[in-house]
Amino acid sequence: MIFKKKKLERQVSLKKDVRDGILSYCKMNHPNECILILRGKSKQGNIIIDSLVVPPFTETGPTFAGFPHSFLPFDLSYVGMIHSHPSGSAEPSLPDLHNFFGLISLIVKSPYEDDDIFAWNSKGESVKITII
Ligand SMILES: [Zn+2]
Repeated sequence: MIFKKKKLERQVSLKKDVRDGILSYCKMNHPNECILILRGKSKQGNIIIDSLVVPPFTETGPTFAGFPHSFLPFDLSYVGMIHSHPSGSAEPSLPDLHNFFGLISLIVKSPYEDDDIFAWNSKGESVKITII
C-alpha cells in the first residue's frame, strides 16, 4: 500500500445532478473505463463541481482511459477529471497520478452507485466529497 495517508486539507462539493450524470455515463460505458472533465470553481480549498465536459479524442478500454492533454483548450473552469474503474477499486493507479490534471481527480468504482465516487489530490491522498 502506497496511499496510506489521509488528509482533509481540501474538499470537494459535487452537485447532485452532476453526480447522477457521472454515474449513468460510467454505467453506459461499462466494462470500459470512461473519462470526463470536471468544470467548476475553487474557493479557499473548496472545489465546487457544477458541470461535466466530454473530452475530445478519448481512447478507452477495460484498463485505460485517456486523452492527449495538449488537445484541451486552456480553460480555468476545468478543475479536474473523473474516470471510472470497472475493476471495482477506488484507489488511483500510478499512471493516474502521473497523468493528474487540474486540482482534483475523482474515481468511480464499479458498480457505480451513489457512494462509489472518491476524490484524490495529486499526491494520492483522499479528499472528502460533499453532495450539494
Ligand atoms: Zn485509474
